[in-house]
Amino acid sequence: ASLTQEEIIRTAQQRDVKFVRLQFTDILGVVKNVAIPVSRLEEALNDDIMFDGSSIEGFARIEESDMNLRPDYDTFAIFPWRASAKGNVARLICDVYRPTGEPFEGDPRYILKRVLVEAREMGFQVNVGPECEFFLFRLGPDGAPTTETHDEGSYFDLGPVDRGEDARRDIVLALEEMGFHVEASHHEVAQGQHEIDFRYDDALLTADRVTTLKVVTRAVAAEHGLHATFMPKPIFGINGSGMHTHFSLFRDGENAFYDPSGPYQLSRIALHFIAGLLEHAPGFTALTNPLVNSYKRLVPGYEAPVYVSWSAQNRSALVRVPASRRQGTRVELRSPDPSCNIYLALAVMIRAGLDGVRRELEPPESLNKNIYELTPQERREHGIAELPGSLQDATRAMEADPLMRETLGEHVYARFLEAKRIEWDIYRSQVHRWEVEQYLGVF
Ligand code: GLN
Ligand code: MG
Ligand code: MG
Ligand code: MG
Repeated sequence: ASLTQEEIIRTAQQRDVKFVRLQFTDILGVVKNVAIPVSRLEEALNDDIMFDGSSIEGFARIEESDMNLRPDYDTFAIFPWRASAKGNVARLICDVYRPTGEPFEGDPRYILKRVLVEAREMGFQVNVGPECEFFLFRLGPDGAPTTETHDEGSYFDLGPVDRGEDARRDIVLALEEMGFHVEASHHEVAQGQHEIDFRYDDALLTADRVTTLKVVTRAVAAEHGLHATFMPKPIFGINGSGMHTHFSLFRDGENAFYDPSGPYQLSRIALHFIAGLLEHAPGFTALTNPLVNSYKRLVPGYEAPVYVSWSAQNRSALVRVPASRRQGTRVELRSPDPSCNIYLALAVMIRAGLDGVRRELEPPESLNKNIYELTPQERREHGIAELPGSLQDATRAMEADPLMRETLGEHVYARFLEAKRIEWDIYRSQVHRWEVEQYLGVF
């Protein structure tokens, strides 16, 4: 069902596209793009567009700064919210290549593709379905985002229309116009918090869609005068935003996680995959939860995981097996948050699961009770480890797990760690308001 060059050019003409954004992602997961006039579309489709990568986070040094953008034809889409008398804007997600013609090893999309090649060599197609949570906040008088929610006011204000719900409906409509199968969208637990779930698909398509979802959500929220944020824990004392991620491996069109005669109707492969996720969870947390702020979410009491365990029932576990079986058999990893670079996060999570399959790792016993209610002693008896408690712990655990370096490659591994060490150092020298409140008067 691949689009041809002619089809893309024809569609661009018919839909009056004036600009095409060539999109890619930096190591920290920030979406970057170069806009070209539609007159250069053919050139772009022929892989002839170069850009200067020297000032993109983690990309290249000045002396090797020229990079080549190669569009993935299947990602051609027209932005539904930019339509105007001045014509439309389209985008193409690109792979980044060196001018010499090799894939650039600092391109996160390339790193995910490399893991998926490995999965295919093992006979698997990897399916992934994410649940993206985010907050919608008001803009201040100066136009800068605040952490005030639109439905906070509902205590006094019985207005019939919730601006947040309206914005969410328009976000879903825009996503559908861009080809998403949105399965559910709803208000989340916290004030101002929402969730959008789209249908699972091949891991690369899903990664591209998560990237698109963030772009679309921010743009449509802005049209409603709201700021959409995927920051994991914007407000102390209420739920943060996670991105539960569901995985299944398919072989010859059949779900390889399903076995009616296995424990919980799970196959050996599913159990090995779970074991791999659990074994590498401390090591990959820096990638699934990459901000200082991510660790303010991973605390007890807000439906976010803290301990390394799995369960066929309980939602306090890191890995949960949702009830659906047959083709819908899957495992849900509950730690990732939506600030992650989805390409790198999926690369390390999938590689962790595949490592379990390859080494035929056995998961510990599944724990079908609330882990938060266990005493530290009981947790030790069950051999339940904790997820890293801070970005610093997470980077140390990442360094201690050789699979991370191997999966990311030297370039991304080194630059990611360097960026995160700097982030941590700046953070740890700040004086927080909490410290002043606690200490100023007493000491
Ligand atoms: N917001 C919760 C988290 O941080 C998840 C809530 C839910 O979807 N049950 O992961
Ligand atoms: Mg959900
Ligand atoms: Mg949710
Ligand atoms: Mg979930």
